[in-house]
Amino acid sequence: MRLKRKDLLGLADLTPEEITLILDTAASLKEISTRPIKKVPTLRGKTVVTLFYEPSTRTRMSFEIATKRLSADTVNLTVAASSAVKGETLADTAANLEAMNPDLLVIRHQASGAPHFLARRLACGVINAGDGTHEHPTQALLDLLTVREAKGTLSGLKVAIVGDILHSRVARSNVHGFLKMGSEVWLAGPATMLPPGLAALGARLTTSLREALTGADVVMMLRLQLERMGQHFFSTLREYSRTYGLNPDTLAWAKEDAIVMHPGPLNRGVEIDPAVADGPRSVILEQVANGVAVRMAVLLLLSGGE
Ligand code: ASP
Repeated sequence: MRLKRKDLLGLADLTPEEITLILDTAASLKEISTRPIKKVPTLRGKTVVTLFYEPSTRTRMSFEIATKRLSADTVNLTVAASSAVKGETLADTAANLEAMNPDLLVIRHQASGAPHFLARRLACGVINAGDGTHEHPTQALLDLLTVREAKGTLSGLKVAIVGDILHSRVARSNVHGFLKMGSEVWLAGPATMLPPGLAALGARLTTSLREALTGADVVMMLRLQLERMGQHFFSTLREYSRTYGLNPDTLAWAKEDAIVMHPGPLNRGVEIDPAVADGPRSVILEQVANGVAVRMAVLLLLSGGE
């Protein structure tokens, strides 16, 4: 099967069938990363440009590794060292990059909608690697793959997403993804960080960590996005951590076999206690490993592969 689209901008516009196609493709590509020679010629001759206007460790590295494992050429533009700091607009930077004829452009930008803006203007495929507080589709896809592997299904689960929902593109993409695949999604955090719009999509909102975690199969903790906060959303970090932090005692509210997830970077001791982050129920590093497979799948499918 093929993915009949030019761009990957968000999970809001993917169908459950398209999500399943990406996850199945990622599952079948995973084995390549365990071979002694971790490379297949599938995308030889293709060029992938990555353009990151915001910091990134996992997303950027795994896109680069994914590109190399498929034998495509990859070029990374470090925005801090580019003409963007001389005042070049995003549209001009992208038009200039496109003149060099890449096949795919991977972009992370602080403005929600930046990848959509480029996708309308450029002939090459555009992949959203995180746009402001809007969406982070490849993160949600790797989260879905990790849950599907751990639980054997994506339907009928109770998924609790906890913390700074308001500023989280990870939460927004996961709400779309888990609801489309038939799970129940609970969002927990301080009232100031619970955007009511997500209830309209079908997610349950609560200020009670206990209510969200009780009977949960999946517990996904989020970082406080302090860099996106213009005003006070909670009183002190200590109080936030006491009310919304995941530790062995609060994790006991979830099902005995609940898995613990986090997109990273972790703020150890704030939203998650190291005993849980490094404990037996944590799948945080499996998420990172699956990130490579999911990005390989997205690069392959958007290049017209099957
Ligand atoms: N790495 C994720 C993102 O870029 C989550 C985070 O930064 O907290 O959205």
